[in-house]
Order: sequence, then structure tokens, then C-alpha cells
Amino acid sequence: MDWQGQRESSNVEDRRAAGPAVAAGGGVLTLVAVAIAYFLGVDPRAVKPVIDKIGGRLGDQQQKDRPPPTEDEHYRFSRKVLGSTEEVWDRLFRQNFREEYEQPRMVLFAKSVDSGGCGVAPSEVGPFYCPASKKVFLDPTFFDELEQKLGGDKGDASRAYVVAHEVGHHIQNLIGYNAMLEKYRAREGENGGIRLELQADYLAGVWAHHAAKENPRLFNRADMDSIIKTAQSIGDDRIQKKMRGKAWPESFNHGRADQRQKYFMKGFETGDASKQALDHFFNSNIAPLDL
Ligand SMILES: [Zn+2]
Repeated sequence: MDWQGQRESSNVEDRRAAGPAVAAGGGVLTLVAVAIAYFLGVDPRAVKPVIDKIGGRLGDQQQKDRPPPTEDEHYRFSRKVLGSTEEVWDRLFRQNFREEYEQPRMVLFAKSVDSGGCGVAPSEVGPFYCPASKKVFLDPTFFDELEQKLGGDKGDASRAYVVAHEVGHHIQNLIGYNAMLEKYRAREGENGGIRLELQADYLAGVWAHHAAKENPRLFNRADMDSIIKTAQSIGDDRIQKKMRGKAWPESFNHGRADQRQKYFMKGFETGDASKQALDHFFNSNIAPLDL
């Protein structure tokens, strides 16, 4: 990606040097609210054993694992990506929803973080957005896992897609789609979550469309390949096959590989952030697995 001339956001907070957050009461990391929008279809309940493992590792060991980061590449990159989403959504919000865009904040953390309203979360849940604090949370070491364990790509464009997807959850929070999730979950079970996740992928594509329009050198061909590789690698079917050897469609909550690719690309091709385009994902005549 060619970020030349990109304004950096001032909404990125780097908490990595602070080390892992510990839940109130001094215990191990606990309490991950269900309302959080995760990047991966990780069930918070499944994370519990991992949390305990991290808890056991807390102590002087933690500081040796990683030197305290300063204003490194991840920090600058995050400021640029977030800055680009701010420019695009500032404008699209006024055009499509006739209101001012309330910019989210983004927090870089190491190992675990207090999300300020969604509990203390460990890195294992992957990048996420907390609607209560209106913040995006990211442990940049996630990108190594994405490439090594999930078969995604940790190139610039992929990382930008991940951030733009979480910003997509923020937009859903502002315009009310988050609030619809419970209703659809009651009717469709886990699959209901696919609506929100595919819409977030679509919103990431819409961002990419407008960012590329403003800066034609931003993405090259390899960048798009990088995004598609990642979007496919985090499809529920791919992740489940990789982790458990088999896929259970009834438990899908983020969408299949083909769906995630399809909607990022649709957003990228159309750039359409109208209510009509966004309502498509909550059309009850289309089942989530048929989107
Ligand atoms: Zn998500």
C-alpha cells in the first residue's frame, strides 16, 4: 500500500507498554461481554481455558516476552489506517445519514486489555470492537497468528482490512444495526451473527472503495490479493476445518470464506453506504447462510 500523504489519526492509544490488564479483584482475566463484536468467530466461553493459562503466566515473565514498544511501525500504521477511515466516514456519514460521524478510538494492547464496558479481554479473542466504550481493540501480534495459524496474510492491506472491519462495527453501533442482532439471534441462533459480520466486511469494502478513489495509488493488485486471502482464511468453514477437522454450518457466526470475500468485494466495487444497501444484510427473507 502506498500511504504517501495520508493524514494520521490522533485517536490511537498505545497501551502495549502497560502490560496485560488484570480483572478487578486481582484474579485472572475474566468477563467478556457477549455484546463485543469479534473479528473471528471465537466463542468467549471457549476462551476461558486460554484465559486461565494466561493468568498463570502473569508475573515477571510478561516483561521479558517483548520489549516495551514505542512509536513503532504498528502504531504509525494504525494511525494512518484509522485516519483514512475517518476521512472517508466523515464524508459518507454526512451524505448518507445526514449526521456528523463520531470517530471511534483505537487501542493497541499486549496480551489483555480492559475494554471499558465489555470486560477484560485476552488477545486470544482477536481484534474486537466494544460498543459501550466505542473503541476498537487490537493486539498487533494477532497478525502473526493470522498468517501462521489461519493461513491469512499479514501484509499492509490485510491489516488495514481488519481495522476497517472493526470500524465497520462502530458504524453499525452508531446507526443502529448492532441493536438488531439480539432479535435475529433469537430467531436464527448463532447464524444471526453472520448478518452483522458480513455487513462489517461490506463496510470495510466501502471504505476501501472511497480511500482508493481519493488516492489511486493506495492499493495495488497484490494488496487486493492479500485482502482476499485473509477474508477467505477467516471464514467460519475454513477456521472450523482447520481447528476441528470439520465444519458445522449451524454454528457459523461470521460467514463462510466465499461470503466474506463476496461482501468485501461488493463494498469495494460499489462504495454504496446507503441505507438500502445496508438493509440487505437484515432482509429476513434471506437466510444468513444464503446471503
Ligand atoms: Zn467482526
